[in-house]
Order: sequence, then C-alpha cells, then structure tokens
Amino acid sequence: MAEPTDIQGKSALEKYPSLKPEDAQDGVTPEAPLSTTETDAAWEEIAQQIPSIDDPFLQRYLAGRESLIANEKTQRADVAFRKSLSPIAKRACRIVERIRAEEQRTIWTSDVEERMASESPHVTVFPGMMFSMCRERMESTTLWRIVRRMPKGSLLHAHLEAMVDFDYLIRELLALPNVHIASDRPLASHDALVAGQVTFRYRAKERVKGTAVWSADYKPGKFLLLTKMADEFPGGGRDGFVEWLVGRCTLHPQNAHHQHHGIDAIWDKFQDCFIASATIMTYEPMVRAYLRALMRQLLADGVRWAELRFAWPLNYCRDRHEQPEPDYWHLFTVIREEVARFRASDEGRDFWGLGIIWTSLRSLPTRPIVEDMDHCITTKMEFPELVVGYDVVGYENRGRTLRDLLPELFWFRQQCAQEGVSVPFFFHAGETLGDGDGPDANLFDAVLLGTRRIGHGYSLYKHPVLVDMVRERRVLVEACPISNEVLRLCGSVAAHPLPALLARGVPCCLCNDDPAMMGHGSAGMSHDFWQALQGWHNLGLAGLASLAENSVRWSAFEDEDNDKWMAGVKAASLGDGVKARRLQEWQVEWERFCLWVVDEYGEQYDDTPEPEESVAAGKQPVVAVPEADKA
Ligand SMILES: [Zn+2]
Repeated sequence: MAEPTDIQGKSALEKYPSLKPEDAQDGVTPEAPLSTTETDAAWEEIAQQIPSIDDPFLQRYLAGRESLIANEKTQRADVAFRKSLSPIAKRACRIVERIRAEEQRTIWTSDVEERMASESPHVTVFPGMMFSMCRERMESTTLWRIVRRMPKGSLLHAHLEAMVDFDYLIRELLALPNVHIASDRPLASHDALVAGQVTFRYRAKERVKGTAVWSADYKPGKFLLLTKMADEFPGGGRDGFVEWLVGRCTLHPQNAHHQHHGIDAIWDKFQDCFIASATIMTYEPMVRAYLRALMRQLLADGVRWAELRFAWPLNYCRDRHEQPEPDYWHLFTVIREEVARFRASDEGRDFWGLGIIWTSLRSLPTRPIVEDMDHCITTKMEFPELVVGYDVVGYENRGRTLRDLLPELFWFRQQCAQEGVSVPFFFHAGETLGDGDGPDANLFDAVLLGTRRIGHGYSLYKHPVLVDMVRERRVLVEACPISNEVLRLCGSVAAHPLPALLARGVPCCLCNDDPAMMGHGSAGMSHDFWQALQGWHNLGLAGLASLAENSVRWSAFEDEDNDKWMAGVKAASLGDGVKARRLQEWQVEWERFCLWVVDEYGEQYDDTPEPEESVAAGKQPVVAVPEADKA
C-alpha cells in the first residue's frame, strides 16, 4: 500500500513519524492507536503548511487552469451557436443546467443502481445505466419534460421499418380483413418460435381449414387466417400472440443486459427483428397506418422533417392484392399521398415532410445490389422529391465494406449521371469497435466517395486526419448514442465518443436509428436528446440546441448538386432557399421554447445560487468564431 506523498515526494508519515503507529502493518489494525491529543498536535503542524486556496500562487494556477479549459472550448463545434445565444436563451440554458444538476443529485443517485440490481437478480448492473433500465425513470424527470418540448429540427438517421411500435402495428394488422399468416416451419417448439420465419399476406378467400401453424403437423408455407391463428396461439390466445410477435421484432432489455455475449450476438438478434417484421408493414393499408402514426409521433416530439433509410425488397402489395408489385411505383405513390395528406391536415401543418435515403443490403452479392440500385434510379426519376440519397446498410463487421463495393458504387454514379439525376451518398461508416480493420476503414471510403453525412461514425475519433477532413469538408456525423449503447459498442452514454468529436469541431446531430426495435416506445428523438443532455456535462442546453440546428442545416430538402449543397450548408439561415427558410423557422421555435423554459421554471431556478460544479462552466469565455462556422 502506498503512503500519501506531498509535493516534494516525501511521505507525510516519514516527515511526521508521530503519525505512524509503531506496530502498524499493512492491513492490520494496531492494537493501541495514538491518543487524539497526540494526532491533533501533529495535524496542526501539517495543517499550517497546507496553502490556502486564496494564496496568490494557487489563484494564478486557477486562472491558468480556467484559461486552458476556455481555450479548449474555442475549438468546439457549437462555439458559434453559443456565442449567438439571445439573453432569453442564455437564461433558459442556465435554468436547465440547474435542473440537470439537481436531478443528478436527487434522482440519479448511486443507490438507484443498487436498487435495480437487487430488484432484478438476473441483471448485472454496470457503471452508467443501460437505456432500457432507466427509460421509465428518465420519462418522469423535469429534464424529460423540457427535452420533449424542445424543437428538434430533422431526424436524419433512422430506418423506415424500425420506427413505429410493434404492439400498435400488430394490433392494426389483426384488425384488417383477410390477412393470413404462413411460416417456413411448424411453430410447435420453443426453438421454432424463436427462429421461424413468418410471412403475412392478404388472401381474397379466407383460409381457415388445415393444421394450425402452431402444430407439429403444419405444412410449411401454407397461409391461414391470421385472426384465427392468433386466437389459437397456445401461449395465451390473441394477447399472447401479440406479445410473442412483439418480442420477435424488438430487442428486450434482457438482450441488452447480456453484455458478455458481445456485439455479434446482439446483431444476430437485431437482424432477426428485421426478418420477423419484414412483411408486417408491406401491405398498403399497413403502410398508410404506419406513415400516419410515424408522422404524428415525430411532430409531437418536435421533429419536423425526417430522412428515412429504406431497404425494402420487392414484397409490397396493394390493398386487397395477393401478389407483390413488380416495382416501387405504387409504394412511393402511397408515401407521397400520405405525406401530402398529413401536411394538409390541421394536425400536420407544421410538418415539413419526409425524404427517403435508398439503401441496399451490404450482405448481398453484386447482381441484387446493382438491380436494387437500378430501382433506386428509376424511382428517383419518378419521385425526385422523395428519393434524396443512397446508402448501404447492415452489420458492418460482417457485410461487404465500401472498398469491396467500389465497382458497384462507381457503376451507380455513372448511371445517375447518364440519367441526369443526382442521388448523393449518405453512408453508414465506422459503426464498429474496429481500429484499422475493414469496417473501420469504411470511414476513409465514405469521405473519399464524397458522403454528405456519416451514419454513426462511432470509430471516427480514432482517425485524426479524417476528423480534420470531415470538419473541413463539412460532413455531418449522424450520431445515434442509444443505438450504439443497445448494440454494445459502449456500456453507457457516458462512454460514447461523440463528445470527443464535438470538442474537435466536427459538426454532429443526434438521431434514434431504430427506435421501435431498441425499445424507445416512440418514433421521436427525446430519449437520445435526454441522454446526451444528462450524460455530457460540456453539452448543456445550448450544445443540444446546436445539434438540433445542425440537423436542419444538413437536411436534404431539395435536389442539389455538390456546389449548391455546400453553399446551402455554409450560408445556413442567411441563404435564400428552402433550407435557410426552415433554419429561420427553427430559430423562431427555439426562442419560443427558451421563453417557455424561463416562464415555466424561471421562478424556481433562475435566482437560486449557482450549483458549485458549474461555476466554471457558467463563466463563458469570449471566443472567436472558427473558420468552419463562419457563414
Ligand atoms: Zn442505421
């Protein structure tokens, strides 16, 4: 055991032998401790030599320390935003900082983890709480109420098939006439219920006769009426059926807790969620119900625009049609109609709309990828305002790398040029713990191929040259902290690398990736916003708002060539296009929101004493606007 040492490196016990009991040995309590009088006398001697915090040399140290911290903050990505805060916004930020500090002291105490551990004996609690364990607690806080109301701008990274709660969707599906279910095997055992692939399809003629899908004698592939099968579900009839299917489409808290199973294991379950849910939504009445619920939930959460990654194979059927469509024309017509209908309604008049980022599965070989790219181009020509970009998706650690996909990607680019359409890249890259391996190197290709944003960029912080390039080329990082946590890249939001990127001046935004499968319970972004605000001390409400503003600034509202895109990002709200107008709208919303925070919580928090830990943070340094943020 090391003894405490003073500045000169001499042990205090060496200098003051009277402090050290003669027979003291490591780990052994001496039988006769020194008397209090003796130790007090020695302590007096030491105490007199400890400098006061007011001593000039410590004050000089503190001044240097503050200036070093302030100097580092001038490199932050949100520095210009902070500098432009209005007086009301500054007050709102201060109020939120106090609420955050208070809730950290009173709600997020260490005994919460203790209690959780004792209440759930099968759960290993580790530092930083898992999202799935603290969601309910999060939703009961004042900070949640504030974040929920915050204008969030655009949702730039989310997957169309993983947005709306499956409990709602499956009940909608059960309410539709003549929907049938088939399975690739009898669902008669636990293993089959865990792994069997189910398909849902409309059939004009009701099929109720035949051995149930739950029986060992079921003939694989045979369609039977869904409502009848649900009612006959051996594990509790219709409610049990819904619970089982929801479980197949969602990551359970239990899946997230088994950290020791690693990233491959959670991805196996995650991919199974997509397989199990593949045909729940690909029926016209379901698509319509899905889109309405999605847009309603987004707007209620303060999200006014969303760009959704879309990876559906050709398995979509029109209302009361048994056969899937040969192309994407009808599906995109439905999307166009539903967006227009929602925007024309009273409820949806503040919604700006949806864009689709076409995605191919990185696990596929060349031919299906090229065929999919071809569909993307055809659909873009018919729905120019809907198809806003292209990406490849799937587990990066196992799928094809961007380097491997170069021939296909260059073919795609050439085809786009020939057809006179612009479908820019918005690549997933660096959603990995790798360092220098293929999936990690996707970041290099994404940047070299001119991606306009990077999906995740989790491992980007390991690449200083790329970090500089991304900052200089104004490539936005779409960070999805809860998704990264649930998919085991980090144990908690506190371990997430986004603060490192923000500190280096990289423009970022927050996104929710797959909220229906991660267990968010809503398509909105409030959970990710809440975790960032509570988890990263340097962020604060101002930093959070700058992430929201970035999401609007980097939205693909219009068809733009690279020059026009870059000009729009640079000009921000000073430009003259749709983007500038929407940024101005967002800024008005933000001011209104800050006023609400001050009205609502000002009395209680505005003139309470500054919390001790945030005294330094409250003194904002006078900072210069970095080149990257000048309009
Ligand atoms: Zn994603």
